[in-house]
Amino acid sequence: MFSTAFLDLPALQGASGTVTLPGSKSISNRVLLLSALCQGTTVVHDLLDSDDTRVMLAALRQLGCGVEVAGTTVTITGLGGRAWPTEAIEFFMGNAGTAMRPLTAALAVQGGDFTLKGVPRMHERPIGDLVDALRELGCAIDYLGNDGYPPLRVRQPSLQLDKPIPVRGDVSSQFLTALLMALPLATQDRAITIEVVGELISKPYIEITLNLLARYGIAVERQGWERFVIPEGSRYQSPGTIHVEADASSASYFIALGAIAEGKGIRIQGVGADSIQGDIRFMDAAEQMGAKITSGPNWLEIQRGAWPLKGITLDCNHIPDAAMTLAVMALYADGPTTLRNIASWRVKETDRIAAMANESRKLGATVEEGPDWITIHALPAGQWKRASIHTYDDHRVAMCFSLAAFNAAQVPVRIEDPKCVAKTFPDYFEALFSVAHTAAQNIPVICIDGPTASGKGTLASRVAAALGYHYLDSGALYRVTAHAALQAGLTLEAIDEAAIAKLARSLPVRFEGDQVLLDGVDVTDAIRSEQGGMNASKVSVLPAVRDALVDLQHSFQRLPGLLADGRDMGTVIFPEAPLKVFLTASAAKRAERRHKQLISKGFSANIDALRADLEARDARDMSRSVAPLKPAQDALQLDNSSLTIEASVEQVMVWWQSRQVFGSPT
Ligand code: C5P
Repeated sequence: MFSTAFLDLPALQGASGTVTLPGSKSISNRVLLLSALCQGTTVVHDLLDSDDTRVMLAALRQLGCGVEVAGTTVTITGLGGRAWPTEAIEFFMGNAGTAMRPLTAALAVQGGDFTLKGVPRMHERPIGDLVDALRELGCAIDYLGNDGYPPLRVRQPSLQLDKPIPVRGDVSSQFLTALLMALPLATQDRAITIEVVGELISKPYIEITLNLLARYGIAVERQGWERFVIPEGSRYQSPGTIHVEADASSASYFIALGAIAEGKGIRIQGVGADSIQGDIRFMDAAEQMGAKITSGPNWLEIQRGAWPLKGITLDCNHIPDAAMTLAVMALYADGPTTLRNIASWRVKETDRIAAMANESRKLGATVEEGPDWITIHALPAGQWKRASIHTYDDHRVAMCFSLAAFNAAQVPVRIEDPKCVAKTFPDYFEALFSVAHTAAQNIPVICIDGPTASGKGTLASRVAAALGYHYLDSGALYRVTAHAALQAGLTLEAIDEAAIAKLARSLPVRFEGDQVLLDGVDVTDAIRSEQGGMNASKVSVLPAVRDALVDLQHSFQRLPGLLADGRDMGTVIFPEAPLKVFLTASAAKRAERRHKQLISKGFSANIDALRADLEARDARDMSRSVAPLKPAQDALQLDNSSLTIEASVEQVMVWWQSRQVFGSPT
């Protein structure tokens, strides 16, 4: 997951390959609650690991459910037939609507002393219609803040279930879902009828609910979309094992990707055309715009068809979440696209109509909007602007606008607060980068070269972390090469040059966090010693060895970008890099830092000997005939003798930002 302040997406050119999607948020949280309400144990496979499901799992634990998490498999031991908690409990629901609504209903029907709170945005999301419906049937619920909004306090109900329970259907279908899941708990001696008031929106989500209720033994009788009858004596029964389908709304980004990007096509694993999720119908809209789609039971394949895409006008009531993706596809169309009947966008994670309009305009698009519609005009190649996309803590805004990186103007796109995708798809950007491709010159490399112990490694890895970029410690490659050569019984001298180069060409090296693995064996400490540095310096003067390591170093230049540290990153390996820094510090200062570092790791060290060693290494690195250590002509020099690490990082970030202007962040 990218938890940086922003993520710069380089201009992307195409996409091909397979993505496996995480489990659906809507299905995951329904399944968790249903498993909690039944008697016995349910093994849930392919559960989405996200903010919303974590909120739900935490709440279920607080209630006393058994919860065992093993990767994406979660085993829930339900509360059915067990004592319901009597002590006061306070639940923190974050911004998780799919947890808040159904849990409120279940708690209110069962009764107790419960407080439900969330983040400030949660306290702005209406819940009054659900509370009204629950009060109607005798539940005791108080507002602790503003009327109609969380936080809430729930107490002991005195249920009256003889007459039909009205619930509004035109604000959020989650109210009806919440009642449908809570009321089977109260059917001991009578059937319960729910009546929908107003036109029911998002019917497909109700279908998911009914479908899942059936899996848990509750056969709701649906009369049109107006009346739902839960039979007398309904009892939750665990299905034993259940698989969560991949999220069809998440699939929309990759369906759109296949329609937009040049390439051999995108295969989506985990969800197919026969999904129980309504958002799968996004497929049809994407096809109307030009996508070519084939599908099977658990997969979809998408290819670019019509290009540019075709502008459409569509009633999106049946695909409220996925329809946002159409708004970004519209930028690549041959005419305007109008999405109608999307009033529910206004009360989601953010006001999504306003968000999509504002951010599309930043990219250069013309957009019109009304209370329940939006029109997005196509954006011709010459009119795209570099924009910093504000994401409003809304996962879908972030994922949608990543697709703007395929623009014909080949301008990069900045996504602010990229970690907001964690709500439904924590590894969204990783999945995107695993299939997207672009020319090497579009993938930025920042080089940090300099002498031994100047602090390059620390600086480069910190900047990489701040930007979400990959990190290449090229010194480690020379260190590992020397280590492997010695292990193979070679000397580090010119007589063994060819043999060492051969080893280097297919070096089985892997970086895992701070660890360096050679052939699966952790060699981190062995290569980080002073001797390891001297050995590296020896093999690094051999031209054939340097040459053998070039391809390996180039292979680190991957999306979304790279920080490379070494001696010749800016001069030899990445001469086209858009930012090169040459880092220096006085020999005395470097010896002092290295001394501290070694002592802290428990190695004994002598500061004068260290200084002599690093001066010897510098001399060898600077005087060798191949790739001698020297600043690239266009490198910016940074002497960090008297700078803190933070100040050095800040300086490099300032230099980088001045070369990457994205309009002003909002
Ligand atoms: O940076 P580090 O101290 O790990 O590098 C170890 C040795 O590897 C250096 O002293 C230098 O001789 C060699 N090296 C190199 N070119 C690089 C990185 C390291 O020659 N790009």
